[in-house]
Amino acid sequence: MHIKNVSVIGAGTMGNGIAHVFAQNGFLVNLVDVQPSQLEKALQTISKNFDRQISKGAVTEEQKQQALNNITTFTDIGEGVKNAQLVIEAATENEALKLKIFKQIDEAAPAGAILASNTSSISITKMAAVTTRPQQVIGMHFMNPVPVMKLVEIINGYATRKEVSETIVALSKQLGKVPCTVNDYPGFIANKILMPMINEAIYSLYEGIAGVEEIDTIMKLGMAHPMGPLQLADFIGLDVCLSILRVLHDGFGNPKYAPCPLLVNMVTAGKLGVKSGEGFYVYTAGNKELVLSERFRK
Ligand code: NAD
Repeated sequence: MHIKNVSVIGAGTMGNGIAHVFAQNGFLVNLVDVQPSQLEKALQTISKNFDRQISKGAVTEEQKQQALNNITTFTDIGEGVKNAQLVIEAATENEALKLKIFKQIDEAAPAGAILASNTSSISITKMAAVTTRPQQVIGMHFMNPVPVMKLVEIINGYATRKEVSETIVALSKQLGKVPCTVNDYPGFIANKILMPMINEAIYSLYEGIAGVEEIDTIMKLGMAHPMGPLQLADFIGLDVCLSILRVLHDGFGNPKYAPCPLLVNMVTAGKLGVKSGEGFYVYTAGNKELVLSERFRK
């Protein structure tokens, strides 16, 4: 199947990155969000990210302009997907919302279009089940920041047709990414392995085995991880980590995935990490140094 027109639903952190890489590679992108301010912000972010690529000599000013010309914004999903060959849903990680969006795009997108989700953990099979084309529904899980990270985790739902999966693998390669295909079970592979590690790091802090800096330093220097697990949790968003752990816990029914009570408390208190300004560390605009939250100072 020849794909030229791609619609991206949700213009947040991931949606703007996905629009960026498709537009850069010559695809025509319809970027859709219910909030006009998010669309405006997304275009500014995309432009800024291109400027960073230009300063590194990776793209030219002309390529940036071409890519920006390839992006059209919409606030109406029906309008935004009506000429799509591929729709990638990258809206907020909320199951009820995603099921609603999948019904809408199934009604409005051409019959042959592939419907993909960038979800971190929600069942592809469930989203497929609310459409009339479950064989054309698939997971296309990009990593943050999308223009930089090479991996695309491709998730075959229970009914995903082999040719659809092959098309998405080939397309990911065309974007310069490295696709890895997995089956649709809670957390897929990336988060089924990452989240228990983050949860174990939070448990180790909660149990008083070590402090935030010790835990992060041991994993950074001992395991050659670029970021410690607690800093990474702040970067991902503690609310996002908690919701993925709940998907794993509910989906497998195994107590080993039970979220640490400290994580639950932090999310309840609104300490969500980088996006709220405080998690295990505190974040102030313009400060690149890692500063421990007062709560965890000894
Ligand atoms: P975000 O909160 O930055 O953006 C979500 C966007 O969806 C917002 O702009 C919101 O206005 C929009 N939206 C909400 N309802 C909508 C609707 N009905 N129609 C159109 N747009 C709607 O979230 P994000 O971090 O970009 O995450 C998006 C998806 O990507 C989630 O499923 C998340 O799990 C997944 N993901 C996130 C990361 C990450 O590191 N942030 C990494 C991989 C995957």
